[in-house]
Amino acid sequence: MKALDRSVETEPATGFAFIPYIQGVTEPIKRILNSHNVKIAQKPFQTLGHIFAKPKDPVTKEQRTDAIYSIPCNDCVNEYIGQTKRQFGTRLKEHQKAVFLCKKENSALSEHTCLTNHTIGWDNSKIITTNRRYHQRLCLEAWHINSAHAP
Ligand SMILES: [Zn+2]
Repeated sequence: MKALDRSVETEPATGFAFIPYIQGVTEPIKRILNSHNVKIAQKPFQTLGHIFAKPKDPVTKEQRTDAIYSIPCNDCVNEYIGQTKRQFGTRLKEHQKAVFLCKKENSALSEHTCLTNHTIGWDNSKIITTNRRYHQRLCLEAWHINSAHAP
C-alpha cells in the first residue's frame, strides 16, 4: 500500500506565475493556482529603497571638473575667478604652488599676494558653476569676472 500518492505533484506544470507576497492574499491565490497546476514563483517584494537606487557619494568640490571657481582674498574684497576642465583640486594645488613660489607670470592670484602681502582664502574657494563645453565655460568665466568686479 502506498503511503502517499505523489502523482499530482510530479505532473508537469501547466503554467507559471510570478506573484508578489501580500499577507493574507498571496496564500489563497497560491492554493487556487496550485489546484490548477500553475507553478508559483514568489517575487521578492520591491521596496522604495529598491526602486530608488541610493545616490552616489557626493562629489567634493576638489573632485569636480569643468568648473568655474572663485578663490577669495582674506584681506580685501578681491576674488580670483578661474576655470578649469580638470579637477578643481588639481588646479587649486597649482594656484597654491604659484602663490608659495610667488610666481607672478600666468597667475593673477599669486601676483596679487606677492604685491600686497595679502593671504588667500583657500578654504573659502568655491565652485561657481560647472560646464563641460569649453567656449561656454569661457563665456561664463567672462561673465563672472564682470559681475565680480561690478560696483
Ligand atoms: Zn587682497
